[in-house]
Amino acid sequence: MGKPAIIVHGGAGDWSDDEDAPKSESLKEAALTGWRILQAGGSALDAVEKATNILEDFPLFDAGIGSFLNEVGEIEMDALIVDGSKPDFGAVAGVKHVQYPISLARKVMTETPHCFFVGSGADSLAQQFGFPFQPNMFFVTPAEWARFQQKQTASPTGTVGAVALDMHGNLASATSTGGTHDKKPGRVGDSPIFGAGGYALNGFGAASATGVGENIMRVLLSKYAVDSLTHGKTAPESVQHAIAHINQFFDDSQAGIILVDAQGNIGAAHSTSKIALGWVDEHGQAHAKMTV
Ligand code: ASP
Repeated sequence: MGKPAIIVHGGAGDWSDDEDAPKSESLKEAALTGWRILQAGGSALDAVEKATNILEDFPLFDAGIGSFLNEVGEIEMDALIVDGSKPDFGAVAGVKHVQYPISLARKVMTETPHCFFVGSGADSLAQQFGFPFQPNMFFVTPAEWARFQQKQTASPTGTVGAVALDMHGNLASATSTGGTHDKKPGRVGDSPIFGAGGYALNGFGAASATGVGENIMRVLLSKYAVDSLTHGKTAPESVQHAIAHINQFFDDSQAGIILVDAQGNIGAAHSTSKIALGWVDEHGQAHAKMTV
């Protein structure tokens, strides 16, 4: 039995320092929820899904409740879950009515022969699985409605993600987002793209990315970070290497990434001013911080 590990994120970007304390509480709660599952011998997949559900419900993150509105005032959410033991993944994009997109992504992976569903087909699949069907406005917070009405911009931040290693050596990654603010309807970023928004492979590592999706998906950032482990790099070195890689191609890459390796070592790196991080140490103590 190996030592379990989990690290979660709530996006990379820039936001008011006033949000740091409430975000920290939510990140710690999410990390602890996943940690308890892992400590009880549960799976990395359960840990990352349940941790992500907490972050999807938290209104200061751009996922589930609190998602950014698109250009026409609608919420369209994307999610990806990766099972490093197979490997396998499930993804959804452009869902408008599913309260927990990451849980729908998991159903896609485990209950269908397919990997990826989009739009109304994904929403109706959720209904078939008995997910509560929420009106689109259910996900819109008063603050986001005000931002949209006042035509204010916002940093592309607040996507959530979790990566974990369980006692059985299985690695998993989860990523969930409302995408970028005021995006065109139908625009999909990196988050639900296997290898870009998330990646996991047993014996190597699991990663989840956040930031400007158009940059991240062009370099398959999560796969790049996990692959970097195979070149003798530690977890912190691998994520630094991945950020250096994306920075080569984009002047302002606006990206962040978290990673756990097959020994339970964690790492995080970002090219933004902040990244919202939560994790649990080997004594069961939860921590959060807003930069590396
Ligand atoms: N990566 C997400 C997207 O491009 C946004 C974010 O992580 O803040 O949709």
